[in-house]
Amino acid sequence: MIHDDTNAADILMGDVVRLEDVLSRDSVTSVSKSFFALFGLPVRVISHEGDLLADVHRDRPLCNYLNTLSNGERACANTVGVVRDLEPDGQTIVHPCFTGAVYRISPLAYQGRPIGRLIVGPYVPAETQVPPTSLTSIDEAIDVPTVRGHFDRMPRVREDIAEELSAHLRGVLELLVFSGHRAQLASTMQVASVRENYRELAEKNEALKTSYDELKQLDQLKSTFLATVSHELRTPLTSIIGYAEMLESGAAGALSDGQAEFLKTIRGKADQLLGLISSLLDLGHLEAKNLELHSEAVDPRALLSDVGSTVVPHANRRNVVLDIEVADDTPKIWGDPVRLRQILLNLADNALKFSHEGGAVVLAAAPGEIEAGGPAGLGDALFAASRPAVVLTVRDAGIGIPEENLARIFDAFYQVDSGTTRAHGGAGLGLSIVKQLVDGHDGKIEVTSARDEGTIFTVKLPAANDDA
Ligand code: ADP
Repeated sequence: MIHDDTNAADILMGDVVRLEDVLSRDSVTSVSKSFFALFGLPVRVISHEGDLLADVHRDRPLCNYLNTLSNGERACANTVGVVRDLEPDGQTIVHPCFTGAVYRISPLAYQGRPIGRLIVGPYVPAETQVPPTSLTSIDEAIDVPTVRGHFDRMPRVREDIAEELSAHLRGVLELLVFSGHRAQLASTMQVASVRENYRELAEKNEALKTSYDELKQLDQLKSTFLATVSHELRTPLTSIIGYAEMLESGAAGALSDGQAEFLKTIRGKADQLLGLISSLLDLGHLEAKNLELHSEAVDPRALLSDVGSTVVPHANRRNVVLDIEVADDTPKIWGDPVRLRQILLNLADNALKFSHEGGAVVLAAAPGEIEAGGPAGLGDALFAASRPAVVLTVRDAGIGIPEENLARIFDAFYQVDSGTTRAHGGAGLGLSIVKQLVDGHDGKIEVTSARDEGTIFTVKLPAANDDA
């Protein structure tokens, strides 16, 4: 989370509030040092708030000597104090020291606002040849020849040149302020734009979360609705089937051929409806993670032949050849036999349904492995071992699934051809149930397909232990 109280108005006005915000002490000191090295004049830079940003000078023998005298020390401290506090109101002030030296105090400004001051000195104006009496008589104990010697060694410069040098240094400092301020503005604007982007992102995130929550609620509502409706439909439907069976068996008297034919259709459609309702109920349970598995070691050969014999009438109707291939060394599957049958029946039914007349469908089982990894993350994927598995494949040479639809075929109610004129029956629930059942068994399901060439569903299920 980025916190920044700068507002856009501040940025546009380009307010420079404090010298120290836009100039680093290091850069001011290094400029002042070069100035001192070149011209031998002491330099101090003080911000508008009174902070000393640079102080470059060398101890002067004159000042050291005066500080050994009590009146001298007092007078020195007094001068330094006054110079420090002097505010040059837009104009340079030349402040005299009792020693005959001077301090040149110039204002530093930026965009017409005072931002600090520059003090050059003490130096002795070249015009001043002899020490003034304010120096020689400052203290009774003063030794005049000594003081005169020290006075002669003070930095000496002509006033017009001192003015020029000080103006030059002022120009350099103001230029530094200018570029420092630009850099500050650029970074402030960058922060503001990052903050703005972050805010937009947070808003979008919030909106996404709200719609996700709403969708989840709707999904929950849909599941509850489906579960209730299917449950309520199943009871009367079982009665309809029961009574139709009784009629068929002649319990209410003999039937004419026409009546028997109609009854057969009623039975067929009612069975179909019951299948659909059972699928819906199944899906509801699976989505609610209510899947209860009664796992045991299941023989793949028996499983495939059971499924094969169940779908053979369907294959015959469609004139499709059904083959079963079980590799000799295929281990047993660890799973719930009823659910395993359901998985294969759904896949085989689809394979037949989407086969061309005269095509072929193969149900196969072979030994294999379930690769490690999955939702737990890369770390687990690297360290976990693969598990022995049984690989079941359901292969057809039918209409195939276009590449762009492959990613969605395991979604509930999804059908590649969902138009009202579609050629194949079904509600788009089979694969969704299959996927959930395979997941429930800790297995994996994959599909490869090519339009008009056929489809292969590969289901990998855990193998039972040898002693199971
Ligand atoms: P449906 O009841 O429609 O068969 P499924 O969930 O079983 O529902 O399958 C979803 C969709 O996936 C099907 O409508 C079909 O478009 C496609 N599909 C599934 N199996 C095959 C297959 N073997 N060949 C071609 N398309 C298939």
